[in-house]
Amino acid sequence: MTQKNIWNISVKELMEKYQVTEQGLTTARAEELRLEKGENILQESRRKSIPEVFISQFADLLVVILIIAAAISMFSGNTESTIVILLVLVINAILGTLQHVKAQRSLDSLRQLSSPGAKVIRDGVKREIPSKDIVPGDIVILEAGDMIVADGRILHSYSLQVNESSLTGESANVEKTDAIIEGDVALADRANMVYSGSLVTYGRAEMLVTATGMETELGKIAGLMNAAKERKTPLQESLDKFSSRLAILILIICAVVFCLCIYRRMTLLDSMMFAVALAVAAIPEALSSIVTIVQAFGTQKMAKENAIIKNLKAVESLGCVSVICSDKTGTLTQNKMTVQQIYIEDRLYEPDQLDLLNQTHRYLLYDAVLNNDSSIVDDKGIGDPTEYALLEMFRRIEADTSSILKEANMHEDILRQNMQRLEEVPFDSDRKLMSTKYMLHGVPTILTKGAVDVLLDRCDYVRCSDGIRPMTEAEKDKIRMQNQLFSENGLRVLSFAYKESEENLDIHAEYGYTFLGLISMVDPPREESAAAVAASKRAGIRPVMITGDHKVTAVAIARRIGIYEEGDLALTGAELDAMSDSELEEQIAQISVYARVSPENKIRIVEAWQRRGNIVSMTGDGVNDAPALKKADIGVAMGITGTEVSKDAADMILSDDNFATIIKAVANGRNVYRNIKNAILFLLSGNTAGILAVLYTSLMGLPVPFTPVHLLFINLLTDSLPALAIGMEPADDDLLKEKPRNPREGILTRGFMITMITQGLLIAAASMTAYHIGLTVSSAMASTMAFATLTLARLFHGFNCRGSESIFRLGLTSNRYSLYAFTAGVSLLALVIFIPGLHSVFSVADLPMTALGQIVGLAFMPTVLIQIMKIIRHR
Ligand code: ATP
Repeated sequence: MTQKNIWNISVKELMEKYQVTEQGLTTARAEELRLEKGENILQESRRKSIPEVFISQFADLLVVILIIAAAISMFSGNTESTIVILLVLVINAILGTLQHVKAQRSLDSLRQLSSPGAKVIRDGVKREIPSKDIVPGDIVILEAGDMIVADGRILHSYSLQVNESSLTGESANVEKTDAIIEGDVALADRANMVYSGSLVTYGRAEMLVTATGMETELGKIAGLMNAAKERKTPLQESLDKFSSRLAILILIICAVVFCLCIYRRMTLLDSMMFAVALAVAAIPEALSSIVTIVQAFGTQKMAKENAIIKNLKAVESLGCVSVICSDKTGTLTQNKMTVQQIYIEDRLYEPDQLDLLNQTHRYLLYDAVLNNDSSIVDDKGIGDPTEYALLEMFRRIEADTSSILKEANMHEDILRQNMQRLEEVPFDSDRKLMSTKYMLHGVPTILTKGAVDVLLDRCDYVRCSDGIRPMTEAEKDKIRMQNQLFSENGLRVLSFAYKESEENLDIHAEYGYTFLGLISMVDPPREESAAAVAASKRAGIRPVMITGDHKVTAVAIARRIGIYEEGDLALTGAELDAMSDSELEEQIAQISVYARVSPENKIRIVEAWQRRGNIVSMTGDGVNDAPALKKADIGVAMGITGTEVSKDAADMILSDDNFATIIKAVANGRNVYRNIKNAILFLLSGNTAGILAVLYTSLMGLPVPFTPVHLLFINLLTDSLPALAIGMEPADDDLLKEKPRNPREGILTRGFMITMITQGLLIAAASMTAYHIGLTVSSAMASTMAFATLTLARLFHGFNCRGSESIFRLGLTSNRYSLYAFTAGVSLLALVIFIPGLHSVFSVADLPMTALGQIVGLAFMPTVLIQIMKIIRHR
């Protein structure tokens, strides 16, 4: 039988073919297969190799012109300047390559962090493993929200529906079956097969893996999953646009300077070299790459702090977030559920007080243990924490009364192994119910659990110690009262009901139940939630709780962690549905808690905030949350409890599911933006100084202050390190004291331009003062002094650009990279000035001690003035 016909054979034949039993593969066999078949990964399209990246650094118009200039100067006998130009270009290309590789690595590690996992059965036990370890023959459990990570044949399907749009282009969900499909049908018609890259949108299934890695259908469609093309972020795009506009302006200036040089009878080659070097010195080619590098470092830091950025754009938007809509369970709370009290027949019980010989108690336990997909392996819960809390509760009883349980055939293992599940309708957060059908004591029985307000209305009977009787409204009111009491204490409440019935189980059968009881559980708030909520309020960000839980429970928790304050409103999904869009928009600022919401409600909430001009972050974990995550400016998925579907739709994944991590990510996002802005200020103000100095001497008819080599030296070597160091400035507490940034405001505001030009003017003035002092001796001395002063002043200026505050408040040592960059820059300058052998190469004259003192003093002046201005402004 060929692989092509896997859908034609029976499950039994299939299991034989893959030599696997219902217990799954053994660990040893799986390891063997992994060595034989390789990892379950898709090979990426070929990347540029390091030499290719290095060569691509020369594919810049200005660099090409410089290379031509170097060649011309070699032919005209000026070998020294040829060597210097080439040397500087090579060093620059090495730096560029290193930066590219580093940025690429950090993006790769991020991509790895967000790759999906899978649930397999191995050695008879269900466990979660990284998807790369899946091998042909593995039995994989598929649940709503999972991403399918290999091709396989369905062994058992429980209403499984998948979205195969990544393969077939068909966006509607397709139903899958475990029956044999006859014939050689097309991929879309193989209803008993699922394919890598599809998403489980509904139901549950077990599948046997038939192909992994490049053998999968997805792997065969070459290029489809090839490394996602790196797209530029809006900031990079706007900077690119700015750079190219600026480049045109600078080229015009260069043309003017070129003409002036010719007019002054410089040789054509010298004039050209000068104009080109001026262009290199003035055009900020590094802007866009500074953004890439600072963002790459920022995202790496965020990943260390548990926020995995999937979309670089999110780093920019994080700084503008003004509303954070967060789930309650697991994000604001610990998601460590523990059963508290149980309410049956108007009485409260502790778990160990349940009487196993009492039929009502017994059915409640059947419902809690069998109507449950979680499991506990090595004391670790797998699945939904609400569900394994029920198993833990059962284990507590089991430990106390093990012998009675055995007698009553109520041991967990006996129950779960012996009772065969006939049908099921999985839990979904819209219905807020879960139902399964079992054969109990020879009678087909539907067991259902879910939210009290949903299930109680579907109950017509109640089970008591003396049998089953119709339920009165008064009894329902009592149960509602009890639910209210539990909820006011912040407890999560599940209700349990059943019915004996022959009918097929689907959502239309979830009526006419017999009520069994309520189980309450605690899920304490995370310790850091209250502080994170307070921090977000200080940072001008509105935290909002959105939960599927009961309103009273939600408000109790929201009040405890500070999201809900007196005077705020709490709304249920039903109340939200009754509101018009304009009513919602009007009231939204007062609403801090939404309870019993459906995933569709989330979209309306995001849109209403967005219409009010806010940048909204929304968390989500379920399969139906994907549209809301996409709609939000920053969709945030949960790394631990989140479905693969939600992770796929999100811009950021929290690897610890923690609300506090979002706030940390916001601080980091603000920091990245601030650092980029400061690095740009540093580069542009330094370039402005160079341009102003050259323009000044050109217009005054003075000798050219810098040789091309000087300008290349400054711009390509000494400038790049301080700019990077500014990009590494650590985040500080003050970042969360400011209001969110206006998303419509670019970096290059009027204020920014004024600062840039002022600082550029100060540095140019210092350099020109040094130039005039040198000019009293010779033009060579003037040029050397101007060059040294400009370089040193720009190196000092690196400290000014670290933040808006003075260096005394920032602390000189708080960013050690800026100290390294300064030291490296000064050392390079010292080499050029003090090593006589380099004098002719770099066209510098010998400097007497007084001149050195003057250079240091003048270079330091702009920094002193800028620091004084900062101190005055902050006062
Ligand atoms: P959040 O949206 O903050 O994560 P949540 O986890 O409470 O909150 P849902 O998971 O949508 O939201 O749960 C909504 C309600 O459905 C719960 O209050 C509970 O009554 C019920 N419920 C939750 N989990 C299950 C389950 N596994 N089986 C049956 N009912 C459940």
